[in-house]
Amino acid sequence: MAVKKQYAVIGLGRFGTSVARRLHAAGHEVLGIDIHEEQVEDAEMYITQGVIADSADKKALIPLELEHFDYVVVAIGDDIQASILTVMLLKNLGIKNIIAKAVGKRHGQVLEAIGVEWIIYPERDMGERVANQLLAPNRLDYMKLSKDYNIEEIMLPAKMTGKSLRELDIRAKYKINVISILRNEEIIVAPAPDEQLQNHDVLVTIGKRSDLDKFSQLN
Ligand code: ADP
Repeated sequence: MAVKKQYAVIGLGRFGTSVARRLHAAGHEVLGIDIHEEQVEDAEMYITQGVIADSADKKALIPLELEHFDYVVVAIGDDIQASILTVMLLKNLGIKNIIAKAVGKRHGQVLEAIGVEWIIYPERDMGERVANQLLAPNRLDYMKLSKDYNIEEIMLPAKMTGKSLRELDIRAKYKINVISILRNEEIIVAPAPDEQLQNHDVLVTIGKRSDLDKFSQLN
């Protein structure tokens, strides 16, 4: 495993617990904090340590010494006031690497104004993901690089099986670049132009979102 990191997750609702659980399963240290005892108890088996505390209360927050953690995730959602107060206190304590969940646009705008490094909009992003999946079933996964550019994992269109990248002329025809190929359990990094593509290959591509959209809709 990579270097063991320390994460604090404030708010052990569905989102917070899910973040904590994954990090803990990957072998990292996870401190879980929630104002409700019940939530801490429910999450106990997925975290290293649990604390019942009101993170919006300075006196409760300071003793947790969150400045020693690599990342602090603020996963309080519905109680926007508590989320904002918590983030403000963390900022005042000089804590960097804050990741905060926003339930909506306005909540996100406030978090941005306070200077949160990374804001997550779980509902909006998940909705977008589902829609993208419906629009292009061949697109298995994607990562936004900028406003216009993505890296995407796209299932090889059936009609391209047995052809090489050179023959298909993907870069010129579709204006996208294939940076690697996922084949069974293997990964072919920077594939040669003569690499023959096989059924079930997944192409890891980079390009403009509109061009990737077109490519991922081919059959
Ligand atoms: P989700 O949609 O992820 O379930 P919720 O907003 O329902 O999100 O859950 C957020 C969690 O944050 C809840 O478990 C709640 O008890 C906790 N929480 C709310 N306010 C505070 C606070 N001031 N300090 C610590 N935990 C809090």
